[in-house]
Amino acid sequence: MVVVMGPGADEAQIEEVASRLRLMGLSVHRSDGKERIILGAVGDLGALDVEDIRHLPGVQDVVRISVPYKLVSRAFQPESTIVTVGGATIGGKQVAIMAGPCAVESEEQVEAVAVAVARSGAFILRGGAYKPRTSPYTFQGLGEEGLRILRRVADRHGLAVISEVLDTQHIPILEKWVDVLQVGARNMQNFALLRELGRIRKPVLLKRGFSATIEEWLMSAEYILAGGNRQVMLCERGIRTFETMLRNTLDLSCVPVIQQLSHLPVVVDPSHAVGVRDKVPPMACAAVAAGADGLLIEVHPHPETALSDGAQSLYVPQYEELVVRLRGVAKAVDRTL
Ligand code: PEP
Ligand code: MN
Repeated sequence: MVVVMGPGADEAQIEEVASRLRLMGLSVHRSDGKERIILGAVGDLGALDVEDIRHLPGVQDVVRISVPYKLVSRAFQPESTIVTVGGATIGGKQVAIMAGPCAVESEEQVEAVAVAVARSGAFILRGGAYKPRTSPYTFQGLGEEGLRILRRVADRHGLAVISEVLDTQHIPILEKWVDVLQVGARNMQNFALLRELGRIRKPVLLKRGFSATIEEWLMSAEYILAGGNRQVMLCERGIRTFETMLRNTLDLSCVPVIQQLSHLPVVVDPSHAVGVRDKVPPMACAAVAAGADGLLIEVHPHPETALSDGAQSLYVPQYEELVVRLRGVAKAVDRTL
């Protein structure tokens, strides 16, 4: 349920409503919009008489939310969430690019990509240090050493850093080295991990599980917001369908659907969606045309020798060419890049 406070409501009135809701055993989350303040009440509403709240001083309206997600919904927060990471803003007019190798392999490898990422005007460098691999016998990532490399290289080029968190026990290590913590598709419903990420104060990029519905995905984001961390971005990275021609099927229609249902930014990862390099640029352009707030793209200086996801990683010149094309698409849909 959300309580919409009137434009003239003062702090004492807001606190009175909040404490009434808390007395009913509900948890109260406040959203300070440009035009009004909204209180989201989450919990068992069984004992609550909505009319009691509606008639409290300063209250303009009380709306019951029928969808299971509350804090991520636009009803709770009509204004889009804008996440700021280094020089990038995600969720506003700007389209943010996060680019880099699938996995951090060496300082030279990350450096070669970082030069191009910085030159292209992007602000965020990606690279996995803890890798969720289907086979336990393949490269699992360099761990904290990988994060140190990523940080060092990014700092040299004035870039921010995003990397995946696989496990709750790694959160403090990632918090130390990165600017954005990525939750991978395989962990979208790792509720213990999501709860812990609700306690931190760094942005989280939550990937869609490959068989997750949009509602399940939003419910996972709800875990993080319910814990108190509002800086969450959603990332579509392809879902599993009957189609076997490509690695996954990129569900671009989720972009406008989410933008209607939720205030959270939507990022698209065309690399993991298609799985092959030559299909990445067209889908990256399509994502921006569809309204994506950001892109996550894999780039490698020598994809043919990459330790993971080489087939879908762009060559550096290909990435640079793509950014030029993306600028044109962004302009056409009244966005900047
Ligand atoms: C990745 O970004 O390298 C990754 C493992 O992605 P996903 O979780 O989407 O498979
Ligand atoms: Mn990858």
